[in-house]
Amino acid sequence: MKIILKYIIALLLLCHSSLWARDWRVNTLPKPPDGNLWAVSNPDSLLSAEEVAKLNTLLSDIEQNTSSKITVAVVMSINDEVPKVFANQLFDYWGMGREDNTMLILFVRDLQRMEFEVGARLRYVLPEDLCVQIQQEKMMPAIRKKEYGQGLIKGVEKMSDIVNENKDLLLDTDQELSFAYVKRHGFIRLRSKALEIYIGLTVLTLLAYIVVLFRAMITHDFYKKYQTLKFFSMYVWWVLFPVPFVGLFFFTKYLMKKWRDAPRNSPTTGKPMHKLTEEEEDVYLQAGQIAEESVKAVDYDVWVSGEPNDIMILSYKTRFSRYTKCPNCGFRTYYEVYDNVVESATYAGTGKAERKQVCMQCKYEHVVTYTIPSKARHGGQKTTIKKAIKRSMRPDSESNNQPS
Ligand SMILES: [Zn+2]
Repeated sequence: MKIILKYIIALLLLCHSSLWARDWRVNTLPKPPDGNLWAVSNPDSLLSAEEVAKLNTLLSDIEQNTSSKITVAVVMSINDEVPKVFANQLFDYWGMGREDNTMLILFVRDLQRMEFEVGARLRYVLPEDLCVQIQQEKMMPAIRKKEYGQGLIKGVEKMSDIVNENKDLLLDTDQELSFAYVKRHGFIRLRSKALEIYIGLTVLTLLAYIVVLFRAMITHDFYKKYQTLKFFSMYVWWVLFPVPFVGLFFFTKYLMKKWRDAPRNSPTTGKPMHKLTEEEEDVYLQAGQIAEESVKAVDYDVWVSGEPNDIMILSYKTRFSRYTKCPNCGFRTYYEVYDNVVESATYAGTGKAERKQVCMQCKYEHVVTYTIPSKARHGGQKTTIKKAIKRSMRPDSESNNQPS
């Protein structure tokens, strides 16, 4: 009976002590021994004595060199508290928020959660996203193997490097701090750097748009206005920079349409002109221009004032058209009929290909045979291949067929 009673008491004590010891609250979690705020609080003995000693040395060195007080708390459980909230409250409860160069690293084992609370000034050198990156890259590999002490040591070592490298900033409290000054000790914040570059490019492109829009606005000639702004009517701008170009794209299109149709006066007689319809305008266009319109390579607007010979023909090129300028008649009605391999290239030798181009308008034909470079066996020969292709583009046999 006595034995059973002892056993029950022991069990109760064990349960009680384990509950008491493992479910920490902000006001029960002991500060690091000696009340230092640059040491380890390890109330559940989750870290070994050696690990604590090693961490304490690191933290004490950081404090001496940079006056930054980093505190590490490693606990089994915080009951049902949210780790982030717990860390935030503990940071204040321990008075760490009263100083600028302070940081709390809280690790809660049963949740496998690590939280960082960083003081106002130290935050410039060790912003939370950088802490999380250090956690992911330096701490987690060991923590996943349940080597909590090793993980924390690796992380604190990295933080020590970064803090030491920026100690001038941390010690000189008169200096205005900015993220731009901070050295990250080889830590490239790739994601945010890419984002910064992207935002920079967006802003630059937006500025360019504003400049171009301004230039278009101060131009009096509606045709010039249209052509100036045309650059920003490309889809690429809103694909690359949806914010803000999705909206600006429609605004741009609206302005271009407005300017293209705006009533204008004749530059020669000064009389008001009106735009002819597609059917009416053909009378004033050359056969080549009508051909260009029919293949949608160029669109023409014809403006007349009513005075004889007071005609204005304005051309609007289609940006991406398979038709190019014919070397014979000069109209944009020249296109590639085929570009075929006649003889495939092998590793041993070059091949041959033939390309034919024809003009829709004047029926001019151009056939060229060119050499395909032999296949390359190794990688990393891009430049050589490029050169070979360039060489091969020089026609070695041509046949031009001029219509009579
Ligand atoms: Zn032609």
